[in-house]
Amino acid sequence: VRVEDKLFYNRYLVDVGRPHIKVRAHTKPSAQLLALLRACPARCYELNDKGQVEITVDGCIECGTCRVIGEPTGDIEWSYPRGGYGVLFKFG
Ligand code: SF4
Repeated sequence: VRVEDKLFYNRYLVDVGRPHIKVRAHTKPSAQLLALLRACPARCYELNDKGQVEITVDGCIECGTCRVIGEPTGDIEWSYPRGGYGVLFKFG
């Protein structure tokens, strides 16, 4: 079973306008930001048409991978969603 197929079973409550992860503004992405494109299991990080890394937190499973990679260098700000928001694991 692919990870993407398993992630389908999760449900996510979006905290509109209050993303719990933010990418620091940049013109050219750092090596850490580029690594996040591949490291996030939920594929939350994407390149926009200017070649900058953006995040869409919908679907984030709060695994903390991007926190380990991007927070020490200040590339991202990471916090847990507010109570009641974020991922709801149906299985496991
Ligand atoms: Fe992706 Fe995990 Fe970071 Fe959420 S916490 S954006 S799932 S790497």
